[in-house]
Amino acid sequence: MLDCAIIGGGPAGLTAGLYTSRGGLENVVMFEKGMPGGQITMSSEIENYPGATQHNLSGMDFMMPWIEQCQRFGMKHEMSEVSRIGRREDGIFSIHKSDGSVDEAKSVIVCTGSTPKRAGFIGEDTFFGRGVSTCATCDGFFYKNKEVSVIGGGDTALEEALYLAKICSKVYLIHRRDSFRSAPSTIERVKNTPNIELVLNAIPEEVFGGAMGVEGLRVKLQDGTLRQIDAPGVFVFVGNNVNNQVLVQEDGSFLCEMTPWGEVKVDLSMKTSIPGLYAAGDMRSEAPKQVVCAAGDGAVAALQAIAYVDGHH
Ligand code: FAD
Ligand code: NAP
Repeated sequence: MLDCAIIGGGPAGLTAGLYTSRGGLENVVMFEKGMPGGQITMSSEIENYPGATQHNLSGMDFMMPWIEQCQRFGMKHEMSEVSRIGRREDGIFSIHKSDGSVDEAKSVIVCTGSTPKRAGFIGEDTFFGRGVSTCATCDGFFYKNKEVSVIGGGDTALEEALYLAKICSKVYLIHRRDSFRSAPSTIERVKNTPNIELVLNAIPEEVFGGAMGVEGLRVKLQDGTLRQIDAPGVFVFVGNNVNNQVLVQEDGSFLCEMTPWGEVKVDLSMKTSIPGLYAAGDMRSEAPKQVVCAAGDGAVAALQAIAYVDGHH
């Protein structure tokens, strides 16, 4: 019987592992299907984590000490994919793994993150992290006083275009239709921002560049012609998949309450609607999707899990 099962080994899961094991819980296991570290390990540079001042620090190098630190305090890492989290009537959780085996835990912190969708144009994957980005807060600064393209027509694309317009000299907002999904007030703000140019009825075809990264983007216009936009940054905001499959029960319902967008509903203590079950990081409601926030969530959830296990078992 585990005191705490942590599902996912990104910044949220690793911080939860550090705090639960150092805070006195016995038998803390972090289930991570791949290498621990999470999605930031795909980034060539992180410069907005407070205190991480080393120049050109890659996401991978940044996360390595986190893993060592957790293990020093007794957290165990099991390289397994969790297929489902269940809960018995006595409140004990069952951790079902893809290999068919099952573990039991008194508390669970779920930290499986989320995955931005890709738009599917040529070069998107090749240049991902080298000019193509899905995070304006993370990468916008690299394009200070430069031009960027933003792809998408929902709330995220428009809000991020407004954010980028404050840093970049010009933002081309590229949308495949001529009407947006976003809130009317956001559309109004975008239209009133002088350095945002709307490129509508335009489908991204190809991002191009060289060894130094992206040089520009070609979009297909309604009349079939191609337009070339020579901007070195391409930000893609075409929706997001929350990695919530582990919470889906055998009857198709979710184990706990979710938002309409598939995020786990939590309160400020990272408590879900189910006692003993916590969610942290990018998969929880209103997540800012930043490493520092995911780590903070993991710590909050861990402190709650310690109190829950102490009080209930
Ligand atoms: P994740 O990091 O997504 O970790 C989730 C983990 O859960 C993964 O390791 C995954 O393998 C595992 N997992 C998922 N499902 C299962 C399962 N069923 N069983 C077992 N394991 C599972 N943020 C910043 O603050 N600054 C930046 O500069 C920055 N740059 C970024 C650059 C890139 C290219 C990307 C992709 C993201 C960047 N971010 C940045 C965002 C940051 O990486 C995320 O906000 C953060 O990693 C979220 O942490 P998390 O622990 O919630 O989830
Ligand atoms: P979204 O609403 O699904 O919008 C995705 C956008 O990307 C759409 O405009 C879509 O075009 C476009 N798109 C999808 N696939 C594409 C492709 N392959 N190529 C080019 N364009 C593509 O996603 P979101 O903006 O991330 O928002 C998700 C949810 O969160 C929404 O319900 C949103 O309201 C909510 N949200 C709310 C706030 C807020 O309230 N402040 C902020 C952010 C998000 P089409 O329009 O043609 O389909």
